Amino acid sequence: MRAVDVIIKKRDGLELNREEIAFFIHGYTQGDIPDYQAAAWAMAVLLNGMNARETTDLTLSMAASGDVLDLSDIVSIVVDKHSTGGVGDKTTLVVAPLVAACGLPVGKMSGRSLGFSGGTIDKLETIPGFRADLKTDEFINQLREIGIVLTGQSADLAPADGKLYALRDVTGTVQSLPLIASSIMSKKIAGGAQAMVLDVKIGLGAFMPTLKDGRQLAELMVNIAQLTGRKAIAILSDMNQPLGHAVGNSLELHEAIQILHDIGPTDFREHCIVLATHMLTLGKLAENLDKARVIVENALRDGSAWKKFRQLIIAQGGNVSYVDDPSNLPKSPIIKTVPSPVTGHILGIHAREVGEVSVMLGAGRLKKGDPIDHAVGIIIHHKVGDFVEKGQPLFTIHAHNHQSCEAAHERLLAAHAWTNEPFQPLPLFYGIISQD
Ligand code: URA
Repeated sequence: MRAVDVIIKKRDGLELNREEIAFFIHGYTQGDIPDYQAAAWAMAVLLNGMNARETTDLTLSMAASGDVLDLSDIVSIVVDKHSTGGVGDKTTLVVAPLVAACGLPVGKMSGRSLGFSGGTIDKLETIPGFRADLKTDEFINQLREIGIVLTGQSADLAPADGKLYALRDVTGTVQSLPLIASSIMSKKIAGGAQAMVLDVKIGLGAFMPTLKDGRQLAELMVNIAQLTGRKAIAILSDMNQPLGHAVGNSLELHEAIQILHDIGPTDFREHCIVLATHMLTLGKLAENLDKARVIVENALRDGSAWKKFRQLIIAQGGNVSYVDDPSNLPKSPIIKTVPSPVTGHILGIHAREVGEVSVMLGAGRLKKGDPIDHAVGIIIHHKVGDFVEKGQPLFTIHAHNHQSCEAAHERLLAAHAWTNEPFQPLPLFYGIISQD
């Protein structure tokens, strides 16, 4: 079999069989198929799509590119979560320690930034020393010892996704239903998940802009879970405006730390609580969502979620003094707060534009392997529906130089839309897709 023939077949809109998909994924993981062929193939998939059978075969090939963990002697039901990606989405930083503190161990594989959307691993690497390339035995030992692991793809775990993910980030091939579904589900399967909560983001700052697209992605992933003998629910959540206030690695880490201290933006706090509540219910630690909520809120209030987060940082080599006192986290040389130019109600805050601006400031990558600037980012001070008076702080830019700060200033002003009439806040959620 030749890689070029597999690319041509997909380019011509034909269906790939299981052997062709396995050959391509294996060859790319081993380094026999180069990046340029994988990029051409990914673009062909993006343009021509894949059916549910191809997507499931792709998922299984990607999961099998490394170890597939069996954690059944550590946790009775392994429950995981994953977001399809958004702007200001630092949910995992809160939900993983929160759920682990409630007594359900969480071993999770996360990603780096992807296009305009941030990545959990980049946020965690803001902390000096933090390691996100755990080997299989380190993953298992840490989960057994402290009940929480947050790592990235590695040579051992989902290596095919590790390579494809970085390639898609810089080749315009992120926004593809089969590539997103297989990327997420291969990590969940490799990580040993038996049940999962999928946070499917919908809106301007998501890879799925409409409810119809989001539902399709959610149904595809929930079906893959079912076909492979796993339980999954997908929560359809809003991503038209950034989640919380902070966008950018260090700033988002700081905001997550606030929520772990039970302070901080209410939309982000509620989002975390709802996801954690579903995880506890799937993991049979609570009979129903109401009982799960009581447990989850207690773990935030009594400091146990925060303690679990500290344990995680220490276990993975991070210098915990940076999270104990977040004023130590990397800071940008230029910090500029921009006042509102008008009095009015906020009609929209274009999440994708905010995400793109944060990449422009240096928080994301333009080329594979580019270093990122952990300090830069944006604080958006308001939410859609807020009434703001002229002169009140509208957003704060954290930039590396004056030129990028000025460019961000203009773009962020334009990202805010206004109305003179009172306007409803956006909903947090649009529904749930489950297997029954
Ligand atoms: N998250 C992933 O892990 N992969 C994607 O492709 C998108 C979001």
